[in-house]
Amino acid sequence: MYREYPTFRPEEILEYGRKSQFDDPLLTVEEQLEKHEKILDEYAMRHFGGSIPAGNKYKEIGSGETLKNRIEINKVLRRIERPEIRGVLVVDVQRLSRGSLKDAGKLIELFQYSNTYVITPTKIYDIRDEYDREAFERELKRGHEYLEYYKKIQARGKLASVREGNYVGSVAPFGFDRVKKPYPDGKRHYWTLKEKPEEAGIVRAIFDWYCNEGLSTSNICRRLGQMGVRTKNGKLKWSPMMIEKILGNVHYIGKVRWNWRKVIKIIKDQEVKVLRPQAKVGEYLIFEGKHNGLISEELYDRAQEISGSAPRKQLDLALRNALAGIIFCKCGYAMVHTSFSPRPTPPKLKCTYQRICKTGSVDYQEIIERVCSSIRESIEDFEIRVVNNQSDSVKLHKSLIDSLERKLKNLKEQEVLQWQAQTDPNPDKRMPPEIFKTLNEKLLIEKAELEDALSEAYESLPEPIDYKEKIIKFTEALEAVENPDVSVEDKNRYLKDIIERIEYERGTNIMVTKNNYKELGMAKPTRGMEWYAPPFKIDVFLK
Ligand SMILES: [Zn+2]
Repeated sequence: MYREYPTFRPEEILEYGRKSQFDDPLLTVEEQLEKHEKILDEYAMRHFGGSIPAGNKYKEIGSGETLKNRIEINKVLRRIERPEIRGVLVVDVQRLSRGSLKDAGKLIELFQYSNTYVITPTKIYDIRDEYDREAFERELKRGHEYLEYYKKIQARGKLASVREGNYVGSVAPFGFDRVKKPYPDGKRHYWTLKEKPEEAGIVRAIFDWYCNEGLSTSNICRRLGQMGVRTKNGKLKWSPMMIEKILGNVHYIGKVRWNWRKVIKIIKDQEVKVLRPQAKVGEYLIFEGKHNGLISEELYDRAQEISGSAPRKQLDLALRNALAGIIFCKCGYAMVHTSFSPRPTPPKLKCTYQRICKTGSVDYQEIIERVCSSIRESIEDFEIRVVNNQSDSVKLHKSLIDSLERKLKNLKEQEVLQWQAQTDPNPDKRMPPEIFKTLNEKLLIEKAELEDALSEAYESLPEPIDYKEKIIKFTEALEAVENPDVSVEDKNRYLKDIIERIEYERGTNIMVTKNNYKELGMAKPTRGMEWYAPPFKIDVFLK
């Protein structure tokens, strides 16, 4: 079905932006909104023949889930009542409301009765039209369904159930069976864990080997394989990751846990609220379980100590990579922080697409140091520029303008001379009119060209850069990154303030063998796997 939509002028449109929880979590609100604004600007240029006036742009910085809590949308909704406003431009319909159906209904009513179009880069909605209204409603509801999903989790009372000490997972951890038990009222049931003797012994052995015999996780795998012990899924192949999970599983000390990272929302006073669980240990909320554990808390704690995952400071729970959102692999994908935990291997940054691009990962500390030295070099460079007073490009530009000005002044003087020569009181001394005409025409053309060049030069005069201010900013960032007491989030913020993007490049790691160790400049490999990591390179793009 084809529909004709009217054409709009930029000043008839209001632009509205809002970051939603489903956007890229690595971007700040400002960065996300800027990204959307770019998309909308392009759209406006193409379809409205110009950009939306700044006074018509609204950006929600806060994150109210309902209309009432969002300040900017209410300004938009007030303004669409005015006849000169004909449309609202958004990246997608859900920016307008992710809230309740009641909010959706209110929006539809407002757009419908104010004859306001909702414009997205993919579709224009004329809310007065039945088909468009339905499509608009459908889109709004899609956003609403996400919320419904979270509410359901809460309604099922999973968290409440964990709090009580029940086991809410659908599969029991290795070493346990999942059993159903009745509440005293006999009507309702809950699930809990019960020791599964043939597996429980293995769990105890794993903790014992790890804590008392000092076996590594891969050695434990080998031993289990040799003993013919099968995994939960009946396989003979054990991986170090599976052992690590067992060693860090609180169910073995009679506790239950709730992954607090799952978004938990509740409805209270007709508003959607985010529930913020308090007692955090690692990524989990931990509660006393109704089941009996398999090992002592003391042994469990020792395992955490050995693996380096003993209760972490709250700082670590959030951002772990100060370069998040800044550093990218040469293949274009982001580099992510990985520590292969809980073994105490030094953290690394790795391309999310490493499987395909084969770029070797890099030691986190090493790359941070490299970035710091690059910042240090920039500061030195700025200091030199401060001493030389001005940046080279500004200087060059100024001298160009000066020479143009001089030429123009010359031409003007010549012009005066020409006129004087043509109007000399003594007719014999006058310049013949045809010669004057040719010369004067030539001069006027030259003058016009010079004036053009000059005004262009003035327009493109680069903004003088305040290097003193830059030095302060860069020094602050450097101090923040090198200060262990500054949180990773703050480090990240400082770096984002001065660095646009870092591109990382490194070849594939090569396994060291008897045949190649010399040429790689490595020691002769003994046993096990040793790897040679080729040197890496970074390109730092400053702001
Ligand atoms: Zn890559």
